[in-house]
Amino acid sequence: MIIGLLLLLQLGTRPVYDRVILGGHVMDPASKLDAVRNIGLLGGRIAVITTHAIRGRDTVDARGLVVAPGFIDLHAHGQTPETYRFYSLDGVTTALELELGTSDVDAWYRERSAGERINYGVSIGHIKVRMAVMHDSGTWMPVSDGAYRAATPAEIGEIAKRIEIGLSEGAVSIGAGFPYTPAATRGELLALFRVAARSKTPIHVHIRPGVAGLKEALSLADETNAPLHVVHINSAGLADTPVMLDMISDARARGHDVTTEAYPYDAGMTEIQSATIQDTYRSAPDERLAELEWPRTGERLNRESYDRYSRIGGPVVVHTNTEEMVAVAIANREAHSLSLMEAIRKMTFMPTQRLDARVPAMRQKGRLRVGADADITIFAESRVLDRSTYREPSLSPVGIQHVIVNGVSVVANGRAVEGVAPGKEVRAPR
Ligand SMILES: [Zn+2]
Repeated sequence: MIIGLLLLLQLGTRPVYDRVILGGHVMDPASKLDAVRNIGLLGGRIAVITTHAIRGRDTVDARGLVVAPGFIDLHAHGQTPETYRFYSLDGVTTALELELGTSDVDAWYRERSAGERINYGVSIGHIKVRMAVMHDSGTWMPVSDGAYRAATPAEIGEIAKRIEIGLSEGAVSIGAGFPYTPAATRGELLALFRVAARSKTPIHVHIRPGVAGLKEALSLADETNAPLHVVHINSAGLADTPVMLDMISDARARGHDVTTEAYPYDAGMTEIQSATIQDTYRSAPDERLAELEWPRTGERLNRESYDRYSRIGGPVVVHTNTEEMVAVAIANREAHSLSLMEAIRKMTFMPTQRLDARVPAMRQKGRLRVGADADITIFAESRVLDRSTYREPSLSPVGIQHVIVNGVSVVANGRAVEGVAPGKEVRAPR
């Protein structure tokens, strides 16, 4: 009798989802869906996308807002609860450290296994592995033998072996940064690229500056047939960025698996003690030191302050890019400006395409379709604005209204939701 009553109740109701997102302007670059829809979430996944009325235990009113796949950051150095919180407020639902990476992939994932606010993942990093093998005294980046001593053949063998171990532990990719390891010979870099080629793993490289730097990376990839991803092309290319984008297009046209990325700011940041700063500025004309900003005080450096802060160590802001070059890199020349759909595609679907051969689970991210992971960013197109500055980097943007990770809200009504950790690891199959 009781069972019959329950059945009747279920027959009389429409499905109830964990959560529904109602009336939003859904923009999905993969399917090109660009229309008002209701979305129902169930068990951390998208269960329905429909024009029909749906009900859920919880409702997000998205009328007047854009509903997009959660943003995916392929170049996220901050990998702490604090930085995951900042990313979530920016609409980022997956943050991956693929350039520096780590030297111990298992330990890196284990440290986060209790869950984080957003999804996370890491590369096995040549810089970090080299620091370990060469016993470098630096903490964040190499400052001694990891940067400046050529490795012996035995050490090169050990570096390659540890990179293979990192891949067997599920690293998302291989990371490298040639200006941070200037003593690494072509032979050492070839060993690295051979591992990438054998395992068909993209190698994410911070190249040496300019056209020559890109030529070097392309020739390493060419010689070994490794998939290559050139990180932050705008800060590596500066005024050469347009011609370097052409070089990458040409390599792709010839069938090479080469991709790139850019960040939409005209300054970068790195460790003042790292080789990439010291090798550039130690012997540069004094007036070039004004390109450097010490973020704690906002002062531009001169020879005296540069030497003083170089002894102390710490992050330094590097003002070498221009707004013009940023615009060229972000639009990638094909359009004079970027449509919203295209911008969303570059921040969601395209990052998954770079990674999905090695990490098939990425095919469930970066898109709004039934069965996909419920990583969703909902924003007010006309109001989105960043507020942070180099002096105040922790100011959150406005206009990012709701951010959902695996079906759970981490940002609601523009504010961080506290005490939630729905983020899961992004990791290659082992
Ligand atoms: Zn870099």
